Amino acid sequence: MKLIYTNENRFLVSNAKNLVENSGIAVTLKNEYAAGGMGDLSPLDTWLELWVVDDSDYEKAVQVIESSLSSVDSEEWNCNNCNEKNDASFEFCWSCQTEHS
Ligand SMILES: [Zn+2]
Repeated sequence: MKLIYTNENRFLVSNAKNLVENSGIAVTLKNEYAAGGMGDLSPLDTWLELWVVDDSDYEKAVQVIESSLSSVDSEEWNCNNCNEKNDASFEFCWSCQTEHS
């Protein structure tokens, strides 16, 4: 198991998980239920973490995420509902989860 992605925005990590899974790579989430209730943990400890199950998939999984995060020919979009700027790879607003139209 190797950690491939983590972010304080849990929605971004979930999005990354979907991308990697859609590429046929087995992944698992850690800290999925850690937020809230654990008063003494620093924010870092409760970041949602995306781990690849098979280490041999690590490079491919990282590429999937990086290419989606830095896609050159894709446009950022602004949410119709809350006006937040979203990465082109997102189908839903990261902030309010309104579907991109
Ligand atoms: Zn929004």
